[in-house]
Amino acid sequence: MERIVVVGASLAGLHAAEALRAGGFDGSLTIVGDERPLPYDRPPLSKQVLAGTQQLAEIVLRQSSTIDVNWERGVAATGLDLSNRELQLADSRSLGFDGIVIAVGAAPRRLPGTETYANVCELRTDEDVRRLRALVEAGARHVTVVGAGFIGCEVAATCRGLGLDVTIVEPLPAPLARVLGTEVGHVVAGLHVEHGVEVRLGIGVSSFEGEGEGEGEGEGSRCTGVRLSDGSLVETDVVVVGIGVIPNTGWLEGSGLTLDDGVVCDETTLAAPGVVAAGDVARWPNPTYGGELMRVEHWEHAINMGTHAARRLLAEARGEPGEPFAAVPWFWSDQYDRKLQLAGRVRPDDEVALVAGSYAERRFCVLYGREGRVTGVLAMNMPAKVVRYRRALADGVAWADALADAGA
Ligand code: FAD
Ligand code: NAP
Repeated sequence: MERIVVVGASLAGLHAAEALRAGGFDGSLTIVGDERPLPYDRPPLSKQVLAGTQQLAEIVLRQSSTIDVNWERGVAATGLDLSNRELQLADSRSLGFDGIVIAVGAAPRRLPGTETYANVCELRTDEDVRRLRALVEAGARHVTVVGAGFIGCEVAATCRGLGLDVTIVEPLPAPLARVLGTEVGHVVAGLHVEHGVEVRLGIGVSSFEGEGEGEGEGEGSRCTGVRLSDGSLVETDVVVVGIGVIPNTGWLEGSGLTLDDGVVCDETTLAAPGVVAAGDVARWPNPTYGGELMRVEHWEHAINMGTHAARRLLAEARGEPGEPFAAVPWFWSDQYDRKLQLAGRVRPDDEVALVAGSYAERRFCVLYGREGRVTGVLAMNMPAKVVRYRRALADGVAWADALADAGA
């Protein structure tokens, strides 16, 4: 294998490139990315960068300057021709390759009817945060956050820290309910209420009201209010939409790869001969969960899967079969002075057992379980507990044993 192209110049892609070099690949290595800046870390975007305490230069990923690669930044990949081993680029060029890593991540879902408003934002890129900060610096007082997932909760917390009034609107009965379940989701709701956020749960958005629509689309149009499904109106200066993401696979249509809520890979991350995928875009049968097909949208996962995918590609070049990628998902989320950490794969209807601390103090650890096994551990401001149970999760610990061990 002499030429490898990594598509997606971000967390998974950079770690793949680093692992390729570390694994002895000394051929031509090119990273193609549609964003122009040097690759940067996304978690600070909704936290320190939005708060104004960090700048883009401070969140550039270390690998951006340490790996020996050819950069193709600011240009999107638009097509993949597997039979001729060619990657098409938006500027009409094409790159030949022997091996390719697909690490193009995911893009925010947009709310229909908001496209023309200059003050309705998603939050995925450095450019998105700059736009949001410009609105705040221009004097915005009230922010409406649509969706109480990760983006919604973190943006709400950061905006309260900036002294803004915040309303969260979420159709589910609790924030992060799909990830944490309703019981713990209510604790998160309480945290936001305690910090002065208006939390509107179990309610949807029916329309957006604005001014300037008649005067041409884009810059002139401003959303002034969000009409909710109960008929009430939330008057607002800025709307932040955080309603999930869609994997960036449009450019791969017709390539022959299996696309189904992401690039579908085998358990080793191989999507086709010479093609691996990693990070937010990749869906694979995770051996830790009996081969359940999953896509994981978290930071550490992108690093581990990017690294694994690179090794897989090198193993293939040596004619070796490659190892399965077995993962226990893990994430953290910072909201106010609380750090949430979850290891595992939880379903909203899993059993929940409080094993340390208390919900009232907002410092606790809960275990989740299903069918006699522990499925996850979540802690709020109790990091040592997560570390301990995370190891047990990888070993497939029984629910009864974990509860007995915890004294619950
Ligand atoms: P991405 O980071 O999405 O990178 C993919 C790259 O590919 C992007 O640069 C994209 O523009 C580019 N691309 C897309 N299409 C093409 C194309 N056709 N051609 C070329 N390039 C293309 N996770 C946590 O665990 N904890 C956190 O606290 C946390 N906070 C977050 C905060 C924010 C605001 C966001 C957005 C995410 C956060 N995450 C967090 C999630 C984590 O950042 C992602 O899981 C991670 O960035 C995924 O990395 P990736 O490389 O797979 O994809
Ligand atoms: P998310 O975590 O998937 O949450 C989206 C939320 O919006 C869900 O509660 C969802 O409910 C709700 N929703 C969906 N459609 C809606 C609608 N029409 N109106 C109102 N609410 C709606 O996605 P996100 O918060 O947008 O985050 C985007 C990505 O960034 C994700 O990949 C996330 O993992 C990542 N991120 C991670 C972190 C972290 O790990 N700390 C921080 C920030 C961002 P349903 O579930 O019912 O659809």
